[in-house]
Amino acid sequence: MTYGFKVMQNMISGLSQYLDEREMSLSDLVGRAVPKFVEWQQLSLTYVTRARISQEDCIKCGRCYVACEDTRHQAIAMKPGRVLEVNDAVCVACNLCSTFARCETASPWKNCRRGAGPAQGPQSRAP
Ligand code: SF4
Ligand code: SF4
Repeated sequence: MTYGFKVMQNMISGLSQYLDEREMSLSDLVGRAVPKFVEWQQLSLTYVTRARISQEDCIKCGRCYVACEDTRHQAIAMKPGRVLEVNDAVCVACNLCSTFARCETASPWKNCRRGAGPAQGPQSRAP
């Protein structure tokens, strides 16, 4: 959405860097997730995550707000002073906001936290 198809080049270069740093080849990655596979009946149906915004770290760029407001569930409210708050009753934990949240800080992603919240309306609300 923000970067267009150029994001594919970034993914390729990121993967290359990851492999080079670990002296791995692409074939070394194939199948590594398989041991973590489980049937859906083994998943916790009460575990729910919601987006979290750290007010003390937020630089109020608004990118997470736009991402959710324009494309998803309008789950982030912008209050006076550009204070952003996630509405847990609406957020479906799709993760889109943190995907587009490029906080201009030393650690770009740390401002946009996701955390476990109380189970509310279950997986029928999943994205
Ligand atoms: S993307 Fe991060 S820094 Fe920007 S408004 Fe959202 S939480 Fe704040
Ligand atoms: S996780 Fe999805 S629904 Fe929740 S605030 Fe972020 S973009 Fe909106």
